[in-house]
Amino acid sequence: MGKTLAEKILSVKSGSEAKSGDIVIAKVDLIFVQDTTGPLSVKQFQAAGFERLANSVKAVLFLDHAAPSPGHELSNDHMLLRDFARETSSFLYDVGEGVCHQIVAESLAKPGDLIVGADSHTVTAGGLGAFACGMGSTDVAVALGLGKTWFRAPESIKVALSGRFPDGVYAKDLVLHLIGRIGVDGATYKALEFSGDAISNISIPERLTVANMAVEAGAKVGLFPADEVTRDYLSTQGRKSHYQPLFPDDDAIYEQTINISLAELQPTVAKPHTVDNIALARELKGTKIHQVFIGTCTNGRLDDLAVAARILKRKKIHPETRLVIAPASRGVLMAAMGAGYIQTLLEAGAIILPPGCGPCLGLHQGVLGAGEACLSTANRNFKGRMGNPEAFIYLGSPATAAATALKGEITDPREVM
Ligand code: SF4
Repeated sequence: MGKTLAEKILSVKSGSEAKSGDIVIAKVDLIFVQDTTGPLSVKQFQAAGFERLANSVKAVLFLDHAAPSPGHELSNDHMLLRDFARETSSFLYDVGEGVCHQIVAESLAKPGDLIVGADSHTVTAGGLGAFACGMGSTDVAVALGLGKTWFRAPESIKVALSGRFPDGVYAKDLVLHLIGRIGVDGATYKALEFSGDAISNISIPERLTVANMAVEAGAKVGLFPADEVTRDYLSTQGRKSHYQPLFPDDDAIYEQTINISLAELQPTVAKPHTVDNIALARELKGTKIHQVFIGTCTNGRLDDLAVAARILKRKKIHPETRLVIAPASRGVLMAAMGAGYIQTLLEAGAIILPPGCGPCLGLHQGVLGAGEACLSTANRNFKGRMGNPEAFIYLGSPATAAATALKGEITDPREVM
């Protein structure tokens, strides 16, 4: 019987014939923590009596969520993680390097890898064909010590994509449309597996955006096949040898199939306070926005800044709207500077933050005021997400964000492109 992508990867990593529903113990390739979840993992690792990392494990620590630190308690957490990295010879990406999921995609994840991270958006690496999922800090601590962990192999939902994105429509619109259709619990503990003739037209940055938000529908993983697009991306990153083709079997069994024609999609926005509360951007015209945020592990990549710069070139943002931009990594920031995007965005009135999570989780760098509304390219919009339960968060693509910054109200980007 054929296997889904999830079953294929878990079979290899567990050395068994894993089928959905099976409990397997699988060898982990990469384990990472970040600065809000990592301190607990370190303490649990020590409390469990582990003295060193499992030999086979590649462990990475990221200081990205509160970077640079806005308060002494977070600074102390950063010190604890730096000490742990030194003591265990783990890799450390310090303040200023960028968001963990972006760096994992740029430099670490490979097709067929099994990756666990103490962060729910670990799923992002599924865009490269890695079975990547978030786990609690304690589970991650045990994986660090043992080099393996257990899974229930998930059932898979096939998302069959056809056609091409029309002008002004992007991967973010696709994933918001999907979550709007199936709901925030529509894929709970399933693997969302993307396939279809459109896949070869979808770039790796776009795949990362879609995989990143799989967890917003409750999915365990969001998985793309590893194909020539994957090979070319890895090659551009200087990691050609990390490529291996990875496809589901033709006779794999899926729990259900969802068909989406990209040509029929339109710029889409998630309204407060859930990701499945979607509307078309044009239906929300007139909704005043006080702050626009472009960044995060969902949409802070070079292509995202390029789209925003194209819309804002030789223009000024609305005088009553702030535009805050956090490149997803140092590499993204440097490439955007080289391409002139940062200059364009600064001239348009944007505030450029250091690479990292920025205001995404409400710790610093753009906390909203009571009653204020933000159009964000992030992945979550529940109450309080950006630091104020009395604020309103709308989610959209970088193009919708840039068009909204220009007009001061939610705007379909096709109006200004
Ligand atoms: Fe989490 Fe936002 Fe950071 Fe992504 S950018 S890892 S969603 S806080």
